[in-house]
This record gives sequence, C-alpha cells and structure tokens, in this order.
Amino acid sequence: MKQSSQTIVGLRVDVDTYRGARDGVPRLLKLFDEYQIHASFFFSVGPDNNGRQFWRLWHPAYFKRFIRTSFAGVHYHFNGALWRGPVIGRRVADIIQCADKAGHEVGLHAWDHHKWMSKTEQMSPLELRVELEKGYQLLSQVLGRDVECSAAAGWRCSEPTLTEKEAFPFRYNSDCRGKFIFVPAQGMAPQIPVTLPTYEELIGRHGITRKNYNQHILEQIKTNQLNVYNIHAEVEGSAQFGLFKQWLQLATEQQFIIVPLGALLDKDYIQWPKDGIVNVDLSGDDEWQSHQASVIQQSVDD
Ligand SMILES: [Zn+2]
Repeated sequence: MKQSSQTIVGLRVDVDTYRGARDGVPRLLKLFDEYQIHASFFFSVGPDNNGRQFWRLWHPAYFKRFIRTSFAGVHYHFNGALWRGPVIGRRVADIIQCADKAGHEVGLHAWDHHKWMSKTEQMSPLELRVELEKGYQLLSQVLGRDVECSAAAGWRCSEPTLTEKEAFPFRYNSDCRGKFIFVPAQGMAPQIPVTLPTYEELIGRHGITRKNYNQHILEQIKTNQLNVYNIHAEVEGSAQFGLFKQWLQLATEQQFIIVPLGALLDKDYIQWPKDGIVNVDLSGDDEWQSHQASVIQQSVDD
C-alpha cells in the first residue's frame, strides 16, 4: 500500500441468510448513511439452507462453538432444516438494489452458503463453476449489470475455486485471511484478504468480552498496513448492532477512513506481489479456512 498518514479500513459485510438480508442489511444501510460511509456487501443469493447446520450439532467441536456463540448473542435460525429455504436474491432483490443505489459495493458471497461451507472441498471444478454461475446470474440480474467482486463463503477457497472464478469478470476476490493484497498467479484477479478477527471468533475467548471487544479490534488497526474488517448482517446487523455502532463511533473519533474493499486497490500500484492460499484450521473449532500462504509460513517460522 502507498505510504499515507491516513488510517484506512476496508469494511466488508457478509450476508449469509434471508433474515440477515431482510433485517440486518436495512439497519446497517441506515447506519452507514448516518455516518456517510460506504462498505462492501457480499450477498448469498440462492436458497437459505443455513438451518441445516442444526444437524451438525452432534459434532463436539461444532456444538462447543454453537454454545459459546449462542451465549454471546449470535443467533442461529433453522431455515432449510426441515423445509426448503427461501431464495434470498429473489425475496430481497429490493434490499440488494438499495445497497447498490446507496453507493455501496455489492458482490457475490455464495449461491447456497450452507452447501459451500459443508461441501466445497468435495465439489468438482464443474460443480464449483455451477454454484458460482447460479449466484452470479441471479445477482447480476438483480443489479442489472456485471458483478464486479466476490468473497467465498466462510473464507473457503480451494485451488480449483481460484481457477473457476477467473471465468467471471471479478475485479478482485476476498477469499481468505491474510495481511496484504496479492495475486495467486500471474494474470489472476487480486485477493484482498480479511486481516482482522470477527466477533464470532473472538468473543468469549482469551478474556475478550463485549466490554473490551471494540477496543481490541481498534488497537489492531494501523496506518500503512492493510486493514480489512469483516462483519455479518446476522451479527452486527442484529443482536450486536449496538456494539458495532459503538465501534463505528470510536473508529470515526480516531479519524479512521472507512471504505469498500475495492477502494483499497491502489490505482498507482498495478503489480501486486504473488502469493498462495493454504487451507488450515487455526480456530480450534475444527473449521478450516483459507489463509494467505506466506503469512502462515511466517507464523510457523516465528
Ligand atoms: Zn458467510
């Protein structure tokens, strides 16, 4: 990134569910309007089958996480557990259009979020392409133009996914956790990794409570480094809305400049460094995620 005295924070809002899109997004849009800021919204647009995670509660690691985050105010809903979930992009097309018209960046998160989270490793390149294609088609119909960016659900991105994404006109992808913008291979769209932890990951761990959570996040934001904060319409647009509002107020008081992720692609800097993606479980929740390879290597060397 260009040397600058300003502290810039890319703000990414993931929308995983129908409820998140219907209730969380309008609330966040209103808040962003009050603060006169823009963010990137990544929508899951296909069937909301997230309730199917209900059936995963038998898994001890998943059960542990469910209990920890439920007490912390992350609400789970059971759409698609016993019935077919609503097709989000059709039900809330007007809300997606509102986000777009208000000047926010709108990108593709997933077709079926639950399927992507649970099956992406087993999907063939063709299946991956079909999932991306279905999501792309519906979202571009809703927007009335090409979709310019995407962010894989759950930061789950395999090598074949990277390749399949190249068939779409994405200006950038945000598929992993990491520290700086990079290209996974010559000629590929750049990756803008998420640099900061999420509420769900931190709360209830290592002495992090609702009281010190915002301060903890703000302390990790620095000038002259890539800062990307990832919130969820289902969390910060819902039960943790008040907490997030406080964060935004504090970030504004510290004069942090909040931007959509696309604005982090410095136009003067065309040659992004090359780096890879590795899929590892660092959370202890038995949930793998894609990480920027050199950052993982660095932490192993340290
Ligand atoms: Zn998601």
